[in-house]
Amino acid sequence: MNAEKSTMQIFKFDAIVIGGGIAGLQSSLDLADQGFKVAVVERDATIGGKMIRLSKVFPTLDCSSCITTPKMAAAAHHENITIFTFCELESIERNTDNHFVVRITQKPRYVDQDKCIGCRKCEYVCPIYLPDSEQGGFSARKAIYVPFSNAVPQIALRDPENCLLCGKCEKVCPTRAVDFFQEPEEFIVESRAAILATGFEMMPLEKNVQYGSGQIPDVITALQMERLLAPHGPYNRVLRPSDGMEPESVAFIQCAGSRDKSLGLSYCSRVCCMYSIKQAMLLSGALPLADITVYYMDIRAYGKGYEQFFQNSAAMGVQFVKGKVAFLNGSDGGKVKLRYESQEKDGGVQTAEHDLVVLSLGLLPGWNPDGKCGVSPASDGFISTVLPKSAPALTDMEGLFVAGAASGPKDIVDTIVEAGAAAMEASNYLGRTGRS
Ligand SMILES: Cc1cc2nc3c(=O)[nH]c(=O)nc-3n(C[C@H](O)[C@H](O)[C@H](O)COP(=O)(O)OP(=O)(O)OC[C@H]3O[C@@H](n4cnc5c(N)ncnc54)[C@H](O)[C@@H]3O)c2cc1C
Repeated sequence: MNAEKSTMQIFKFDAIVIGGGIAGLQSSLDLADQGFKVAVVERDATIGGKMIRLSKVFPTLDCSSCITTPKMAAAAHHENITIFTFCELESIERNTDNHFVVRITQKPRYVDQDKCIGCRKCEYVCPIYLPDSEQGGFSARKAIYVPFSNAVPQIALRDPENCLLCGKCEKVCPTRAVDFFQEPEEFIVESRAAILATGFEMMPLEKNVQYGSGQIPDVITALQMERLLAPHGPYNRVLRPSDGMEPESVAFIQCAGSRDKSLGLSYCSRVCCMYSIKQAMLLSGALPLADITVYYMDIRAYGKGYEQFFQNSAAMGVQFVKGKVAFLNGSDGGKVKLRYESQEKDGGVQTAEHDLVVLSLGLLPGWNPDGKCGVSPASDGFISTVLPKSAPALTDMEGLFVAGAASGPKDIVDTIVEAGAAAMEASNYLGRTGRS
């Protein structure tokens, strides 16, 4: 470990990056390459954020994990970066030296992370099968498991709520890493600069009452569709969850939460049009005979090459229907019934049926600073930036910068650009205030 460790479990770094998604990784690599010591704190058991969970990326259709994994590995092996995973941020304050004092809780994995070698023998012998949220809940994981095959770090964790305490994992572990008695541990990171890269979360499906509150089996989220389309997804092909059949018609519902004041989200989530077009294109390759329809209010193809991407999808046969979907129902014939207000020539309230429906749920802030950090959120809940035009990484707290979707929904290109900007701001700030 390249940090200075005291008996009080205080680790000192030049900068701390909160969030190990693509924004946090890019910022930390940019700072570490300049010689700064960086701590990355991630609440998940692996770094990589949403991007490591995507199939391919618009508008190039590059494999997402092929781009993300090298950055994850580069951060993990960088001599100036220390990664703390499975950690909860408790508070960010300032001490009298004007350093950030960040209180963090290491959540128990019930596996000693210094001993675990990621061999997964514990996972193979565990008798419990549970829905694997990393695969959209479509396949199973064990009660002790490594999150997924390219997770970083490759360290197992035990799910205490579902473990039977049968002890099989403990017996088979070659390094005696399983520890049923692990407790949460608090420690402090002190740093001169900080970057918030806490990203976004999708609005829970349960909140969408008009779209079935998650109770209609063949109504899924866009992140679940990413897993169905991924090369190492749950089925290795696109099947609908209720009966394992290949869907013959698939609908994408845009603005299923965004731009909808009744759900408290009046803003546009910015990436949904493009990722739905991407998924529709990938689907038309995976299921060449399927009818694919996108129900939309407007198509926002604002980035470089995005309009052409949209036009290509229409040329490939993806149908675009302008209309707001009001209601979804399951039907006896195993179809999902949809009622929408058409803005097309035929107009009026229309109905349609599809085998599988994908919702573009709104994107919410990944973290709320309330009570934990003095930085201000904007009216939409994302971190507020004080000079959004001239210095988009600046927050209203000196020395604390923001990167990626933490300040608002955005695509990977804008995330990477902002992460570089945040690193540059932090580097300038560290230069002005001196290295620790
Ligand atoms: C379905 C879907 C498909 C998409 N497809 C594309 C695409 O094809 N092309 C494209 O350009 N964009 C796409 N996007 C957008 C893309 O996912 C984002 O641009 C990108 O993930 C933003 O990265 P980020 O690091 O800012 O946030 P995230 O990926 O959300 O990462 C944030 C990280 O911070 C961690 N974190 C949060 N709070 C804390 C805390 N308090 N303490 C510690 N850690 C914390 C989280 O666990 C997470 O690992 C898609 C989005 C969705 C929803």
